[in-house]
Amino acid sequence: MSEHDHEDHEHDHDHDHHAHEPELTEDARAEAEAEARRRLALAQIRQYGDPSLRLVANEIVDFDDDLKRLAERMTGLMHDAQGVGLAATQVGVLRRLFVFEPDEDGPKAIVNPVLTLVGDETEEDSEGCLSLQGVRVPVERPTRVVLEGKDLDAADVRYDLEGYGARIVQHELDHLNGVLILDRTDDEHRKEALGELRPRISLR
Ligand SMILES: [Zn+2]
Repeated sequence: MSEHDHEDHEHDHDHDHHAHEPELTEDARAEAEAEARRRLALAQIRQYGDPSLRLVANEIVDFDDDLKRLAERMTGLMHDAQGVGLAATQVGVLRRLFVFEPDEDGPKAIVNPVLTLVGDETEEDSEGCLSLQGVRVPVERPTRVVLEGKDLDAADVRYDLEGYGARIVQHELDHLNGVLILDRTDDEHRKEALGELRPRISLR
């Protein structure tokens, strides 16, 4: 290596160092803040072992400000926890409401949701859950569903969903019936997942 090359290298290195370090620090700080927000949100979401995750939620009759506040709070928690869906039972509220966000169209809330159409085709994919931290299991689900219910103002809503969106709403609807991905996977993965969850429970 010639002296010149060496100097060039040093120079590049130096330049890189000064130009990129503040940016990296900023990124690192943003990442640390996001991680702190995620942990705070997860601390407010009921975790496996909590009985409310196993109960069937009740139909919603009153479309009042309370309901809007609940949906708003759930949407905030879903975002902070970096999830794509959150059901009321996961915050200990036994009401038939969930929020979801399958794409960049923004978050949606649905009240008293029902599947009015379920396609014949199914697909297996790996699913996680904000109430089962550290667990991912394969779950087979229909790839197309039509979901109907009410929005927060009691107006009828209908979503024709395929793929990822269809999977999310089926997962959230399960929550309103006390069903978890552990119930939807095979014995082997269930056993493995329970092994992952058990130590955490005994520490409580
Ligand atoms: Zn879940």
